Amino acid sequence: MKPSFSEGSSSYRGRIAPTPSGYLHIGHARTFLAAQLRSQQQNGVLVFRNEDLDLDRCKLQYVTAMYEDLKWAGLAWQEGPDVGGPFAPYSQSERGDLYRAAWRKLLEMGTIYPCSCSRKDLAQIAQAPQDEDDEPVYPGKCRPTVTRSQTTMKSARGSNWRFRVPDGETITFMDNNGLFGTRSYTCGKDLGDFLVWRRDDVPAYQLAVVVDDAAMQVTEVVRGADLLKSTARQILLQRSLGLPQLEYFHCQLVTDENGVRLAKRNDALSLRTLRLNGHHPEILMTQR
Ligand code: GLU
Repeated sequence: MKPSFSEGSSSYRGRIAPTPSGYLHIGHARTFLAAQLRSQQQNGVLVFRNEDLDLDRCKLQYVTAMYEDLKWAGLAWQEGPDVGGPFAPYSQSERGDLYRAAWRKLLEMGTIYPCSCSRKDLAQIAQAPQDEDDEPVYPGKCRPTVTRSQTTMKSARGSNWRFRVPDGETITFMDNNGLFGTRSYTCGKDLGDFLVWRRDDVPAYQLAVVVDDAAMQVTEVVRGADLLKSTARQILLQRSLGLPQLEYFHCQLVTDENGVRLAKRNDALSLRTLRLNGHHPEILMTQR
């Protein structure tokens, strides 16, 4: 039987995009429930995208767990790897051709360049960690004076590739969540040249997300406030690739009793642990 895809009655399309590199926690569930609510309020569709690009970190056990745990948390999606949909596949590991095409377009436009800096080189750039995102501004060691269009390069493999940000330009966007209002980030000061492709031939998060949000016709992105600065990076990529700019809604991050943001290693607050300990999903909204 042909699967039928339930379509929302409006054009709103939201998405949840977990990375299966560990068990998801309360913070993920709250953000995803906010995304679900936004899409329900607008009679839209919620898309589930499995962000399993990094096959070294993403394990099958976490993929299985994320479906089980998110369903337990009260989430339901209308398109996704497990239910299909018009924009399948919904797992990033199966969408490589789309990312390669975007890399090529950026290369031809002359907005990216290869970078040979190692993690160690970058770690040596002394800079205080920043509040929202700890990626230091790239100091420009490999940045050419002029970045030229290239058409002969066969593949991205073997090099890190960085997007050259327009220094001095300020990227401003409205956050639809009243908490964050209008945000502005200046290129070269708040954010530097960022990775779009990794040396191990894996597309970087920023590029994959921009390509997928556009291809899956997402209209609003609901996600954690740790990605506010990435929103500015993604707007830069959307402009370069000629893609529409989306709406954004950022959620407050959940912290532990010491005020430290939850991470996948905080097992005590993982959805899996809460569920196996017999908690009711209501705890997700009441627990600090
Ligand atoms: N997959 C990303 C994460 O788990 C989220 C991406 C996004 O919402 O843009 O942090």
